[in-house]
Amino acid sequence: MRKTWKSDNRMNAVGHGISLTRSVQRIPILLYHSVGTSPSAQFRDFCVSESQFSDHLEMISESGYTVVPLSQVVEHIAEGGPLPPRPLVLTIDDGFRDSLDIAYPLLRAKEFPSILYVVAGFLGLKSTWLTDEGAGNIPMVSPEDLCFLSANGMEIGAHTLTHPWLDSLPSEEVRREVQRSRLVLSDIVGESIESFAYPHGYHSHRTVQLVRSAGFHSACAVRNLVSHSSDNPFALSRVTVRSDMSPEMLDNILNSADLAPKREKIRTLAGRQIRRVKYRFPNKQQARVKNAER
Ligand SMILES: [Zn+2]
Repeated sequence: MRKTWKSDNRMNAVGHGISLTRSVQRIPILLYHSVGTSPSAQFRDFCVSESQFSDHLEMISESGYTVVPLSQVVEHIAEGGPLPPRPLVLTIDDGFRDSLDIAYPLLRAKEFPSILYVVAGFLGLKSTWLTDEGAGNIPMVSPEDLCFLSANGMEIGAHTLTHPWLDSLPSEEVRREVQRSRLVLSDIVGESIESFAYPHGYHSHRTVQLVRSAGFHSACAVRNLVSHSSDNPFALSRVTVRSDMSPEMLDNILNSADLAPKREKIRTLAGRQIRRVKYRFPNKQQARVKNAER
């Protein structure tokens, strides 16, 4: 018999970082990567099993959340559009083939909307940007897969062409990664691509400007804090779901995690400087740093 995941704490409108008024609503945005079996120990944290993913979705239903499309949250933040009482957003990054084979049928069975952020330069290929982490052989979705998912209600978002650290690249390269990924994906699915996700969540003021000017309406960062109705629509905070998170742990995080503050932490700014140096002077430590900072 399937377990049920009742939330012990329905008072989840209270965050520790921001004092809430009636107009500020918690909007958890979950970030999944691969649903399946990890090809390596280094990448294991970013894979959840099929049964774990299914149990998470069950917990989300049982705890009374309403899964809403990301676009509805963006509209709410921009124009005060309506949201249900306990909204939650599901996002999946990278565009691994298991998003279609494993995640999609489970989402479909629950009628949960979601958005898939796709690395547009690797369609139909393997995840070779993850080679240093022992995960360079994961099959990616094909253009046909994307058309199928888009036609069946999964929103498609852009996640660059090659998955670089955008906040460390020269502007011209950032512009290319952002604009081209939008074009490639919109050509395939025949619809405007309106949302972007920064690889590893790394972004800077300049990155945000380039994403805005490319025509996107929103962008997701990571931050591992709970988003809310006053969040920045071009740096929406997401909570990374890791392989060791049981439904109870996830439920607890959704209830207790702080709301995202407006300002970046000093640690974030310092990390960006380190990444810029690493890009200029790459060495063997780079893979380890990339893995640790994801
Ligand atoms: Zn990614």
